[in-house]
Amino acid sequence: MVDEADISSEVEEIARRLSLEAALKRQNTGAESLTECEQCGEIIPERRRLAVAGCRLCIDCARKAEKVTERLYPQGQG
Ligand SMILES: [Zn+2]
Repeated sequence: MVDEADISSEVEEIARRLSLEAALKRQNTGAESLTECEQCGEIIPERRRLAVAGCRLCIDCARKAEKVTERLYPQGQG
């Protein structure tokens, strides 16, 4: 059981942005990937940039954000 308070506002912001970007991506399929993570400045591996169109976060930040996104915006309820 994970408490909601465990979610830091920082990570929550990543999740919000990720969710927003997912919505934008649906409209803009030609989105450009960043070479560095928007959140922590870490270099994003080329393989990831090629695999994920419009990728803006490194794997670590993306995973973190995805977990929080699932919690904040549960899928399959709309
Ligand atoms: Zn990062």
